[in-house]
Amino acid sequence: MDINTYCAGDFRLERLPNRWQVGRFAALDALGVAHLVTTRQGPDVQQVRHDPAPPGREIAHILGLEHVAFLDQVHGGAVLECARDGLAGAADGLVTAAPGLALLGKSGDCPLVLIADRRRPAVGFAHASWRATVAGITTAVVRRLVDLGCDPADLVACICPSAGPCCYEVGDEVRCAALEQMGPHAAAFFRSPGRPGLAHGSGDMTARTGRLHFDLWRANACVLARAGLACSSIHVAGLCTICRNDLFPSHRREGDAAGRFAAVIGRVAPAR
Ligand SMILES: [Zn+2]
Repeated sequence: MDINTYCAGDFRLERLPNRWQVGRFAALDALGVAHLVTTRQGPDVQQVRHDPAPPGREIAHILGLEHVAFLDQVHGGAVLECARDGLAGAADGLVTAAPGLALLGKSGDCPLVLIADRRRPAVGFAHASWRATVAGITTAVVRRLVDLGCDPADLVACICPSAGPCCYEVGDEVRCAALEQMGPHAAAFFRSPGRPGLAHGSGDMTARTGRLHFDLWRANACVLARAGLACSSIHVAGLCTICRNDLFPSHRREGDAAGRFAAVIGRVAPAR
């Protein structure tokens, strides 16, 4: 498996008639999968907590979907299946086989991974924060889709805009947790920009205080390939929410005042 061969760059931003700016993946459009990623020029979905509230329902309506389900996202490895409207529970992965139901994930820097099947109506998403990624959330969502009858070889996954490898600084405890829970290969997901080529003397201080960058895009792409998805079926938007805070809310940039953007996926019910 070559974790560097995933496709990239098929994510585009467009303007809806209601003036929201949203992103879409060509790979999901090609399958007829209803989906979108909201931006700062759109709703703040922070308030979608216990009931869908207007933004959740409006997004579902725009996509031609009837209902919307979402999670109390808790940065773990648990996945739920749902078939109806509203809060499905506390977890970081959600799957459904119910046409007409929109699954809504919320982010303020964390990668949301949208997954659809080429042959079946099943869809799902993972809220792949660093803790959830290390806890195996993306693999767990694929497994849950397999339980619904999906073949991993038929799955298409799209990693939404999030804190990128350019900006996502973490402490060494995050690298240690990743190595322990994901395995030694996780070392490849970290780099220390300030470290290479430093001379002795004052440079050593920079080396000691240099922070690690965690590449959550690469980590999740690798996890998806290990779970059996074709590398050509793994797509990365490649937009960093910290660099592009003009487009997306970022918790790292804005702190607790940051809003949340949404990534939503579903299958339109056949006409009755
Ligand atoms: Zn960045």
